[in-house]
Amino acid sequence: MILVLFGPPGAGKGTQGARIVQQYGIPKISTGEIFRDLAAAHSELGLKAKAYWSQGKLVPDEIVVGLVRERVADPDCRRGFILDGFPRTVSQADTLQAMLEETGKRLNGVLNLRVEEPELIRRLSGRRTCSNCGATYHTTAMPSRVDDICDHCGNRLIQRADDTPESIHRRLVEYEEKTAPLIHYYEERGVLYHIDANEGPDAVYVKVQAVLRKIAC
Ligand code: AMP
Repeated sequence: MILVLFGPPGAGKGTQGARIVQQYGIPKISTGEIFRDLAAAHSELGLKAKAYWSQGKLVPDEIVVGLVRERVADPDCRRGFILDGFPRTVSQADTLQAMLEETGKRLNGVLNLRVEEPELIRRLSGRRTCSNCGATYHTTAMPSRVDDICDHCGNRLIQRADDTPESIHRRLVEYEEKTAPLIHYYEERGVLYHIDANEGPDAVYVKVQAVLRKIAC
């Protein structure tokens, strides 16, 4: 099964993706996570990309596409994979299409997680992430048991460099300008599934599962 988790920043792509990984046992490829890991490792590519993402700008297509091409060729992707945060431009979507065709694969579905803007801003501005295991929290909706400490591994929670008010604003603008046109792109190809994702993670996952059952038939 090859899936794309689609939606604006803060829609819950990472959260829902993690649940699909658990249930279906296929890997999730998050381009944002790959960039954050590369930057933390001080790789040249990682630092180059950070100059963009830390300001809420999209990383140039040629950088993103190269990373995805390498990752989907890994053996654990043979049975399928979930793309979280890729594609984000029409050019990336075209490249994905070509990549899949080259290997005789096809995209099973694009899950469009729809969330109202005030809710996105509320989610992003309160988001905290474990610096070690990546678990996510929210200062009011899902706080950790001890302030700023991860419930799972005891490490410190941090705020993502791009979850500042300026970057959040820029990311939402980038989404509307460059990413939202993909809704029409995938609608035309008959693979788009809309999901109202304004509720909490459990309620949204029920809807995600309903779509996945349909896709798997
Ligand atoms: P995310 O973790 O998906 O919110 O991604 C964090 C940031 O990484 C985004 O705001 C972009 O700056 C960058 N990024 C992630 N995926 C892509 C992509 N497919 N194309 C361009 N930039 C990306």
